[in-house]
Amino acid sequence: MTTVIENDQKNDRLEVGTPLLEVKDLHVEFHTRDGVAKAVNGVNYSVAAGETLAVLGESGSGKSVTAQTIMGILDMPPGKVTQGEILFRGQDMLKMSNEERRRVRGRKIAMIFQDALSALNPVLSVGYQLGEMFRVHQGASRKEAKEKAIELMDRVRIPAARERVNDYPHQFSGGMRQRIMIAMALSLEPDLIIADEPTTALDVTVQAQVMDLLAELQAEYNMGLILITHDLGVVADVADKIAVMYAGRIVETAPVHDLYANPAHPYTKGLLRSIPRLDQKGQELYAIKGLPPNLLKVPTGCAFNPRCDVATDLCRTETPALHHVTDKDGKELTGRRSACHLWKETLHG
Ligand code: SF4
Repeated sequence: MTTVIENDQKNDRLEVGTPLLEVKDLHVEFHTRDGVAKAVNGVNYSVAAGETLAVLGESGSGKSVTAQTIMGILDMPPGKVTQGEILFRGQDMLKMSNEERRRVRGRKIAMIFQDALSALNPVLSVGYQLGEMFRVHQGASRKEAKEKAIELMDRVRIPAARERVNDYPHQFSGGMRQRIMIAMALSLEPDLIIADEPTTALDVTVQAQVMDLLAELQAEYNMGLILITHDLGVVADVADKIAVMYAGRIVETAPVHDLYANPAHPYTKGLLRSIPRLDQKGQELYAIKGLPPNLLKVPTGCAFNPRCDVATDLCRTETPALHHVTDKDGKELTGRRSACHLWKETLHG
């Protein structure tokens, strides 16, 4: 499914770098029979027009729950936003009624999901599903909508678009279906796309092609892009900055190249070590020990402490705040923060 939120404001695209979305101190809980799970616990992040933010984390880290809360598609109950703001072009979407959200949420936000096959309707042609956006939102005739669908299919480089416009989703490969999802997301020229694990179901070569396409279209349309992934390997070439999440919190933020070059959190360090490398053929791949915590029983102190090779007693009692980090001379590093008591040793050690 691609969800598109309409708006009344047209043709007021922002300059590159203008803040588009700001998530401020967001807290989301799930009330279950076994207790309250704090899925998102004080998350802050922002994305500007023309910028790509990668939100990285294992399953249960809160990355998708945050995205679903932004989109307003989180099931409530059992989910509940207990605190925070989601500002889209300066307006808090959490304070709006559903109807206001649809009208005022800014320009448009589209979401791309991981599983295109189950997201697309199997009994409708892709052309019909793409054209529906134009029929419903822009009052296009069937013929006009079909032409727009072909245009979009061309745009996302589906070969022989005119011949294939009446084909059904199962007649396309996984990579081509994901291109159709991207086309659907682009159809109304949104300001922001949230892509939740958009390439996870694809093989590595196709992953790279789809990511490149997404990055190219994002630059062309000057959109903001939030890329949610568990795989650091797929975001290196496309993201501007990264927020790493663990157990509902952001544990590290950094410009993408700084993070790859020198992480300031042991969890990020572990994630980087687990990426397969061509120059290390034959060597056993590193894996972070243990599993992410059950959100009903998050360890005290730093939630990562049972899995961390360098944890100290302080780590088991005191939750580290998300600090600015500095270079060896004490100069603050732009955009860099770490929630680790030992960030200095991790970064400079
Ligand atoms: Fe490891 Fe302690 Fe840093 Fe947590 S605060 S990541 S346990 S060193």
